[in-house]
Amino acid sequence: MTHEARRQVWLGAGCFTLMLCAMLIALQALTELRAQHRQLARGQALADRALGLQQQLTAFALHPLDLPSGSTPEALKQSAAAIALDDPAIGAAERRRLDAAIDAVAAARGRLTATVPGSEVKMLMRLPLDEAGQALRELVRAQTEALQRQRDAADEFSAFARHLLIGAALLTVVLGLLLAVLGWRSMRANRRMMGELDQLAHEDGLTGVLNRRALDERLPVEIARAERLGHALTAVMIDIDYFKRFNDRRGHGAGDELLRGAAQAWRRQLRPTDLLARYGGEEFTLVLSACDADQALQLIERLRPLVPEHQTFSAGVATRLAQEDAAELLRRADAALLQAKRGGRNRSVVAGVEAQMALPLRIA
Ligand code: GH3
Ligand code: MG
Ligand code: MG
Repeated sequence: MTHEARRQVWLGAGCFTLMLCAMLIALQALTELRAQHRQLARGQALADRALGLQQQLTAFALHPLDLPSGSTPEALKQSAAAIALDDPAIGAAERRRLDAAIDAVAAARGRLTATVPGSEVKMLMRLPLDEAGQALRELVRAQTEALQRQRDAADEFSAFARHLLIGAALLTVVLGLLLAVLGWRSMRANRRMMGELDQLAHEDGLTGVLNRRALDERLPVEIARAERLGHALTAVMIDIDYFKRFNDRRGHGAGDELLRGAAQAWRRQLRPTDLLARYGGEEFTLVLSACDADQALQLIERLRPLVPEHQTFSAGVATRLAQEDAAELLRRADAALLQAKRGGRNRSVVAGVEAQMALPLRIA
């Protein structure tokens, strides 16, 4: 894996983790919000129940004779126990105090007889009733404070979650952008690499012109195009004369340099639509589109002086016949090249043509 790809994987993993964290935080914030709503509803119910208990207590204390149904000390304590949040520890002490105050109200009530006049009942019950009322208020206060604390904690958490979510979102955007830039860069690098690979696969390493593989691929395409457009297509096989001798005398390095120099100089003479390939060794192939044998011969004569070190070459020329495929066209050009060699070298022979162009032989 390349350095760039590893960086992309890390960035992707970072984005994924951040998004996962953001989702978990949002989920937790939602849970907190729901708990807050539930507690608010409880707080409301708690206030209603406290008010009801206050009325029950007053009725219980001030009407000793006609006791309202269900108003026993136990029933009052149960009502007090119902004023509770989820956590029973909250307001436990206040509830105990309230229970004791209810017991005190019940005891005071038990001491009263039917003969006690109403004004005296009120006076006698005032103290225990005040104590019960005070205990009830304390219980409600303890519960309300607990609710407020829970709400404050939830508010704090939601503010924290909001900041965290904004941070995570910004970081995700930055990482995403970085990822996009890296992706774009590696896409460009890949495309460049593919181009270079393609060039390497189709270019001759020594001379920089097309290689045999490229010729095999492109000649059928050129033939199809020439057929469609009704153009002539001419193939030329070129072979450097006495190249072995040149190598023996000047060394392989000089031989390489000659091949490179000749190929580069020839290429500059060709049209963009012409192909120049190194067929192998010191042999080259020209594919000339929209070109007949005469035009090919003229071009070859322009190429001759471009070979370095006054080295000569022989050429076999074949103009494509109807229905002829690439292999047959090259075979005929090669046969013409052989004739040029046999005819004394440093000359061109056109396949199937009697009159040959013969040029004076130049020996390196
Ligand atoms: P002919 O005129 O009949 O073509 O003779 P020739 O010596 O050119 O042909 P031959 O086939 O006898 O030898 C070809 C020589 O080309 C042999 C080989 O050393 C040389 N050659 C082939 N490829 C390369 C190359 O890449 N670099 C160099 N320096 N020489 C090469
Ligand atoms: Mg040869
Ligand atoms: Mg040769």
